[in-house]
Amino acid sequence: MHNPDALASVDVAILGGGMSGLALACQIDRSNNCASRRINKAVVIEPRDKYQRDKTWCYWQRAGGLFDEAISHSWSRWEIRSAGRVTASACPEMPYVRVDSGRYYQSAVELLGSSNTVGLKLGVSAGQVSRDQQQLCVGTDRGQVRADRVIDTRPRPIPQGTLLQHFFGWEIETDKDVFDPTTVTLMDFSAGSEDDVHFFYVLPFSPRRALVETTHFSKQQLCESQYKDELRGYLRQRFGLSDWHIRSSECGVLPMPKRPHALLEGQPNVVLFGLHADTAKPSTGYCYPHAQQQAECIAEWLSGRTNSGPPPSRHSVARWFDGVFVAFLENRPAQAPEVFFRLFQRVNPAALVRFLSDGAQLADYLRVIWAMPKGVMMREALRYALGR
Ligand SMILES: Cc1cc2nc3c(=O)[nH]c(=O)nc-3n(C[C@H](O)[C@H](O)[C@H](O)COP(=O)(O)OP(=O)(O)OC[C@H]3O[C@@H](n4cnc5c(N)ncnc54)[C@H](O)[C@@H]3O)c2cc1C
Repeated sequence: MHNPDALASVDVAILGGGMSGLALACQIDRSNNCASRRINKAVVIEPRDKYQRDKTWCYWQRAGGLFDEAISHSWSRWEIRSAGRVTASACPEMPYVRVDSGRYYQSAVELLGSSNTVGLKLGVSAGQVSRDQQQLCVGTDRGQVRADRVIDTRPRPIPQGTLLQHFFGWEIETDKDVFDPTTVTLMDFSAGSEDDVHFFYVLPFSPRRALVETTHFSKQQLCESQYKDELRGYLRQRFGLSDWHIRSSECGVLPMPKRPHALLEGQPNVVLFGLHADTAKPSTGYCYPHAQQQAECIAEWLSGRTNSGPPPSRHSVARWFDGVFVAFLENRPAQAPEVFFRLFQRVNPAALVRFLSDGAQLADYLRVIWAMPKGVMMREALRYALGR
């Protein structure tokens, strides 16, 4: 799609070529190649002129996917630390993997570069979406695009009062062996906090290299110097380090909404998708695996192979559990370390991974409920049901 008119009229316009938008574009291309019903023309509109590695995405890999060649690391063991205790779990059949965004973008650009039907327009920014008779009109800084359907993955403001997952991390190298490269520290609550949920995350690549992050679940972000002080304290206290080399840093603010907010309903034939559209799992902030699954379902829906409306981001039971758990995190942050510790200590690792990845079966839900403090969770469920 190198013709300048390629932007003018399409079946599907995808606004935003980040992780979710590219996943959908590649799924549309794949679906076009292997089915008789096709989308004749789709375009991704992305303001970046070129892609660079800007982050990494980790998730539990339950099945192969389109971007497996972008996976740079894999671990089958992880641990939770709280109040001087450690619980470790292993699940070799569903490893925790790390996707390199640079490789991910490169794979998508190559795949779309050879697509006859799905184009990627870099250096173009989308504005308002309006309706003109049967079609949608997307204003861009390079003219208007007419589309039958719009999938909007652009970032949008997080509504006031939403619980946030905010984090800051350094990828560091040390002069001595300190990290155990076999085990990811998913949550280390050793710093302790009554007011919010605060933990450290350690992704070890070798005995001398790791990504170390400080993460909070709260409604207020901190200033950068506070996150850095927390990291320095942790590296000193847990690993006895006074000196390290920072190779890169990353930070993020992810929404953890109790309920999908009204804006997400969009308008007819406009589907909101991605981090700011309830694709991320609200209780964990993980977005990558959910976006990949949802991209496949949206591509099927767009090609007309399913009769119902656009697929929801997650099953209503999973959404309800998330809502109650987010309510618990908001209302009882001091109890969160113990609850996370119990979940990882008591629930079979494969069942817990399925639960955390929105793939739980009935038996998995029962195992998770059994491991939770039932009185506390019942009260939170009741409050949630009453809309508080
Ligand atoms: C540092 C960091 C680490 C993360 N780590 C993990 C992880 O380990 N595991 C996990 O599951 N999730 C993780 N996440 C959460 C989530 O997976 C990522 O934020 C992911 O990039 C979200 O994908 P997205 O497509 O929704 O948003 P993005 O990837 O941010 O894509 C949105 C796109 O919209 C484009 N855009 C902006 N304005 C316009 C406009 N006007 N017109 C058109 N396009 C526009 C942007 O340029 C961008 O490319 C992480 C997030 C961050 C910030």
